[in-house]
Amino acid sequence: MALGALHDVTGRCACGQVSYCCAVESQAVLCACDLCRRNSGSAFQAWVDGRRASLILTGETSQWASSDHATRHFCTSCGSALFLFERDEPDVVEIAAGTLDEPHAVSSSRLSSRYRDWPEWTKTVVAGR
Ligand SMILES: [Zn+2]
Ligand SMILES: [Zn+2]
Repeated sequence: MALGALHDVTGRCACGQVSYCCAVESQAVLCACDLCRRNSGSAFQAWVDGRRASLILTGETSQWASSDHATRHFCTSCGSALFLFERDEPDVVEIAAGTLDEPHAVSSSRLSSRYRDWPEWTKTVVAGR
């Protein structure tokens, strides 16, 4: 996957132990797959793609393998979900968009390609019902 136009953003976890800056795209992807729901504890997890080489991290994270091709990284102190690395996309870091500092760092969002697999209750939120 080729990244689109990038701009620099900053972000941090809920407790502030981890902060980062990265060059990211301006559109987030909302995902409500089983892993993203469990990982976030919420209906959706919003991801924004960034250039992995531009990621500068301060603080301590831990990671777990959420599948045989992806690892998810989180703050070791507060547990905030922060990043997802896909084995097949070595140049990309997916950043949990909810951890971005600037509310306008992302200008739009779209639904993930796995939308069909989402549970009905998450679809009713998207449909405004
Ligand atoms: Zn934290
Ligand atoms: Zn997902």
